[in-house]
Amino acid sequence: MTGPADRTRRYIASVEGDPQNVDDVITRMAATEVELVADILDPAAEIAVALAAMLLLRLEDAAPRLYLTVPQTRSVKLPLLGEHDLYDELAHVHQGFDAAKRFRKGPAPSPDLRLVFDGAADPGLHVRTAAWACSLDAELPEVAGNPVAAAFAGVLAAAEALQVGFRLAGSRARLRSFRGAVSLWDYSLAPILGPTITSPVDLSGFGIVGCGGVASATAWTLGLLPLLGDPLVIDHDSIDKEGTNLNRHLTATLQNVGDPKATLLAGFLGAAGAAPRPRICEWNRLSDAEKLEVRTGVVSVDDGAVRRDFQLDLPQVILNAGISDTGYYRVTYHDFLNAACLRCITPGGTLLGGPLATTARRLGISTARLNDVISANIPLPEDVVDALRPEDREQVRGVRGADLVATVCARVQPLPDEPAVSAPMLSAAPGVLLAGEVIKHSLGYKGPLSPALNVVGANVLKGPHQGWLTTLHKRSGCECLDPLYRRYYTRKWA
Ligand SMILES: [Zn+2]
Repeated sequence: MTGPADRTRRYIASVEGDPQNVDDVITRMAATEVELVADILDPAAEIAVALAAMLLLRLEDAAPRLYLTVPQTRSVKLPLLGEHDLYDELAHVHQGFDAAKRFRKGPAPSPDLRLVFDGAADPGLHVRTAAWACSLDAELPEVAGNPVAAAFAGVLAAAEALQVGFRLAGSRARLRSFRGAVSLWDYSLAPILGPTITSPVDLSGFGIVGCGGVASATAWTLGLLPLLGDPLVIDHDSIDKEGTNLNRHLTATLQNVGDPKATLLAGFLGAAGAAPRPRICEWNRLSDAEKLEVRTGVVSVDDGAVRRDFQLDLPQVILNAGISDTGYYRVTYHDFLNAACLRCITPGGTLLGGPLATTARRLGISTARLNDVISANIPLPEDVVDALRPEDREQVRGVRGADLVATVCARVQPLPDEPAVSAPMLSAAPGVLLAGEVIKHSLGYKGPLSPALNVVGANVLKGPHQGWLTTLHKRSGCECLDPLYRRYYTRKWA
């Protein structure tokens, strides 16, 4: 199966825990009615409502019946979208998506969820922004939201609609509704406004490594601000022929199939005033001179080896973002000398979700089903074994649950082309937060994401929570403890 539905389907299978159930769940999700409402489109409301709509449309098969009730008058230029009526622009860029056929202008007949974006008193779930803060159903000070908060409000709104879809579909996914305020300035669950962004964001010395779904949301958000500088924008890949990238690539439509991801992302930054230099190659293929230019790395590649290599080229700071199969997303900060470096958190050969998620993926089952087998300490069911590649079957047949992870990691080869598991709002959540960190770093703000608290992360099905800002420590044996590397890093940035 291919097309924009494929990767989201894999994500739903992963959280559902029962792959047999996925078709039914998706069919029922697609029958959900969601209405997006704004009486006035000020820039923050327009950014939030537009991003929420794009993320929901890109759910494709699992997208709700989406209704948009907003004024004709626009107030802000949005990346990817033209400047005319918002419904028409959204419908236009999603031409060819099945979800666009269920997209309507005007009020929903009997909405399962009504998202109200502009502070009007209409009934529904209220999505608000104020400077760096945003909220679902919580009052905020009367201050205009900045583009980062507005984009994240759109992500929270789309994630809420995804949860409503799961609930109405009778899904077994574990959900927790987020209600309240969150500040993207200090990651507190309070309406902390933070400073106003007054100057252009200078991206000189930045290297954007990886231009996938996460980075596309970073660029979409950055593209809402005036930009300067000539960042390097690096990705060897193109939007795939099958269109599976399109569930999460906010830089692309079906017209962009085959286009290089770096060029598309650079286009967003260029339209906002920067002079980005796209490089359609892997990081390792850049010249030494270009590698040395990168003072701040903005990394969201899904390849652990590239992350590890990039860290050893010793940029001054790395801002990193990633997602897991189960819906967890995180953004991390690394300066090499203090707390975890990017190598510390990227052990060779495993992915963000850890050995359990990697094992489940190699076996082609959900982590929940693998957990059941491990808890019961029983061998894998025959249907799971039979679905494996012939050479892998005998390696795991009869192996008891308690020994499965070790056996699979040791004996079963990684699949050469393991497809990504993702969902539109899952990629966008860390992408938007990463944009916030780029802005803080460029403008010289000392944000909370630092060596002391170097990771912010949450599950897209549960939302931000009190402990979402934490610390990852160094791993023993990592190169960041080696005096030679440490001296080189210190001299390089003295
Ligand atoms: Zn390290």
